Amino acid sequence: MGRTGNRSAAPNLEKPKCSLKTVVERLARVYAPSQGLTDPLALIVWENIGYLIDDGRRTALLEEFRDRIGLEAAKIATAPNAILSDIARRGGINALARSERLRRIGEIAVAECEGDLSSHLRMLPVPKARALLKKFPAIGDPGADKILLLSGIAPLPTVDSNGLRTMVRLGYCLEENSYGQTYKSAAAVLGLAGQSDSDWLARAYGLLREHGKALCKRAAPVCEPCPLDHICAHRITPKL
Ligand code: SF4
Repeated sequence: MGRTGNRSAAPNLEKPKCSLKTVVERLARVYAPSQGLTDPLALIVWENIGYLIDDGRRTALLEEFRDRIGLEAAKIATAPNAILSDIARRGGINALARSERLRRIGEIAVAECEGDLSSHLRMLPVPKARALLKKFPAIGDPGADKILLLSGIAPLPTVDSNGLRTMVRLGYCLEENSYGQTYKSAAAVLGLAGQSDSDWLARAYGLLREHGKALCKRAAPVCEPCPLDHICAHRITPKL
């Protein structure tokens, strides 16, 4: 019988079978996530440019946004409605709200830091940088941590929903009552393992995300080819 089961990310009471560093090394043998974006404003536009679309489509829309509008705050704030709507329309449902959010990104960056978000964030203490990022649409704690880490501003431990699911299944944290609580638990575990090493934390972020998307999928993880199957604490329920 194949080991592709219908395993959820339900609370897992077993202890992890190896260190998180080992997990990341094993994933690095399989995946090679691209370096990706490092500019905070571009990362915020990336978050907002589509809803439930894959990375390929998101990247294509961001490239189009860069070509037709630009990724500078003032250009975003004054972009023609027709162009914003045209791009937003191809990013999934709620296009009107999304085009308003995209413009808002430029307006906030102009109002808060005269458009130079990256330099401004670098001058702020981390809690204030985090608070500033959370003023932007669709940026909560995980998004702010990710932007600060990937832009090289602060070595904050962070994980996206795909990586978080994998961490729960492997037993590095429990699934708590809310996403935010589960995220905090996972970030604490990553922080202990990463010890403020921003390169490792960024690598862990990218690899866990890649694994969650490729194999450790939400509804039906594909466990047979998984490089972590022999150490995964998740129970397999045999099919009868
Ligand atoms: S980590 Fe691997 S073995 Fe464990 S549930 Fe995810 S895909 Fe399956």
